[in-house]
Amino acid sequence: MYNSRKKPQDEMVEEVTSIWSCTNDECKGWMRDNFSFASEPTCPQCKSPMVKSEKKLTVLVNTSPNQSKD
Ligand SMILES: [Zn+2]
Repeated sequence: MYNSRKKPQDEMVEEVTSIWSCTNDECKGWMRDNFSFASEPTCPQCKSPMVKSEKKLTVLVNTSPNQSKD
């Protein structure tokens, strides 16, 4: 199929991102590893310990430095 997106500079791509994942199987809690934790964080939802993991996140890649055209 021909790709007819109007704004090819805005692409949704999947990126493997470092995250903290809740160790509680019944909890879906996770957070991005964007912060500098002094130690391992606890889940904000259930207070369980969290472990480092990776998650595929869909991110918007904006290759256009200036979006003022719209
Ligand atoms: Zn949790």
